[in-house]
Amino acid sequence: MYNKFQQYLQAELKSIEEAGLYKKERIIVSPQKAEIKVNTGKDVLNFCANNYLGLSDNQELIDAAKKALDERGFGMSSVRFICGTQDLHKELERKIAEFFGTEDTILYAACFDANGGVFEPLLNEEDAIISDALNHASIIDGVRLCKAQRYRYANANMEELENCLKLAQAQRHRLIVTDGVFSMDGNVAPLDKIYELAEKYDAMVMVDESHSAGVVGKTGRGTTEQYNLRGKIEILTGTLGKAFGGAIGGFTTGKKEIIAMLRQRSRPYLFSNSIPPMVAAAGIAMFDMMARTNELQDKLHSNTDYFVAKMKEAGFDIKPTQSAICAVMLYDAKLSQQMAEKLLEEGIYVVGFYYPVVPKGQARIRVQISAGHEIEHLDKAIAAFTKIGKELGVIK
Ligand SMILES: *Cc1c(COP(=O)(O)O)cnc(C)c1O
Repeated sequence: MYNKFQQYLQAELKSIEEAGLYKKERIIVSPQKAEIKVNTGKDVLNFCANNYLGLSDNQELIDAAKKALDERGFGMSSVRFICGTQDLHKELERKIAEFFGTEDTILYAACFDANGGVFEPLLNEEDAIISDALNHASIIDGVRLCKAQRYRYANANMEELENCLKLAQAQRHRLIVTDGVFSMDGNVAPLDKIYELAEKYDAMVMVDESHSAGVVGKTGRGTTEQYNLRGKIEILTGTLGKAFGGAIGGFTTGKKEIIAMLRQRSRPYLFSNSIPPMVAAAGIAMFDMMARTNELQDKLHSNTDYFVAKMKEAGFDIKPTQSAICAVMLYDAKLSQQMAEKLLEEGIYVVGFYYPVVPKGQARIRVQISAGHEIEHLDKAIAAFTKIGKELGVIK
């Protein structure tokens, strides 16, 4: 039975490899942080994690997780609505709502599940979903699971969005959905304009804050802080797997009736376990830290400004960014791979992206800045970029 299928898979895998698209994993043998050790024994500076606030190895979070592990055990062995809810889950849901200025929150095992389970319970064939073309894969999959009419607009293109909204007047309810920060360019969705159009055409808005929460806005409260729209957006989704400690977990937060309906009907919530108690406890400690001090967000913002300014000074072509994502444009796929490889030899771990991850002719190296980086780390990266950039003729 397997023989024919095996041959098919072997051929497919070979063609992925030949196209240069085979994903390999680099193996880290230290905690996740600014300076990591990989299994070749090499120490490198990490500029490709979503560890925006540098919390992945934070001692306060580790202590909170250990304490919960001792006091509340390892796992729940149940979905939330049977016997999988502890006070820790409820407390974390409340803290997330406080952080974003929303009414209620529902936790998931991951944001992939939050997005996968948000559309189908709320909308049906009488309704419309209007989605940014660059939205995350989990939003695309979530939309696929829902029978609503689908409309798509080019990334952050408000003319196209308006056209979609006009067409979608034919439907009963309309939901505009967008990433808060688009992960390849680092641009923030123009939520002020989106909100204006939503008002004008009677639509609701959903923002996926995965790359923006903890990062965007003066105190890192995300796109609703940036655009002064706290409490105005119906649905926010996000992850605990990036800025917020980086372990695991996702959430949907927003209007209380929406969250209540998701608890009744969202399939990843009903049929899959939530996060374990230790992760919930660390999440609570994390949001307590956010409420107490703005130190990490401030450091992240000043690190990002510093890095972008110095890289521009060195002559690099940097995409305009309003987040901690900094796209160093190279435009050539092979060059992006060569440059990333040479940077790694210099002890700087970054990743080069090219088609089909980004549009053809838009190859780049994506640098992700963290509050865990010290100025020496940034300087070392800038020096390595400058050296290799000159070597490869990217800058003069
Ligand atoms: C990373 C990411 C997700 C998935 O988050 P997980 O919690 O790891 O599943 C969803 N949406 C966006 C925009 C992301 O960047």
